[in-house]
Amino acid sequence: DAVLLAVDPSKDVDGFHPLNAGRLVAGAPRFIPCTPSGIMRLLRETDVTLSGANAVVLGRSRIVGLPVATLLTHQNATVTLCHSRTVDLPSHVRRADIVVAAVGRPGLVRGDWLRPGAVVIDVGINRVPDASRKSGYRLTGDVQFATVAPLCAKITPVPGGVGPMTVAM
Ligand code: NAD
Repeated sequence: DAVLLAVDPSKDVDGFHPLNAGRLVAGAPRFIPCTPSGIMRLLRETDVTLSGANAVVLGRSRIVGLPVATLLTHQNATVTLCHSRTVDLPSHVRRADIVVAAVGRPGLVRGDWLRPGAVVIDVGINRVPDASRKSGYRLTGDVQFATVAPLCAKITPVPGGVGPMTVAM
């Protein structure tokens, strides 16, 4: 927090300074953190209806979960913000029209958690061991793609979905 307070709020592009975090909540952002901004752009460009939608955000970090929950709320979604102390995570995910997974647990969200037709945004970037790769690992998301993709309306892959949008933003 001492470091964050030392950053000039007018140069705080991640929006971590309390002034900028507060402005985001107030609906008058100066900077929107790049990952949440990319997620909102993805949803907008693919015509996902946000107003009235049930959105379930997994993870409450200051860089992804909290701001994306705030931005979805401002777009009139009904937002449930889940985290490590949430009881019965699958029951929340099952009610979601839109799921945003930003947890950092490979394959946490599975097909049997999902309401068919949901939109799934997989933010997670996790390294898992893979002996078939020269690097010894591969990148995977917080969503179990193989079981979720056949059920959902739209899904972002990892790698290749939210990551490049973060870079672009
Ligand atoms: P973080 O560690 O700061 O926060 C993780 C959040 O997940 C916490 O709020 C915690 O309460 C919650 N959580 C942990 N275990 C949980 C569980 N079992 N059930 C429910 N909630 C749980 O992480 P972060 O910085 O928000 O990043 C999350 C993931 O997103 C990581 O994999 C990270 O690499 C990835 N990420 C990707 C991008 C991108 O551009 N695609 C950008 C930022 C972060």
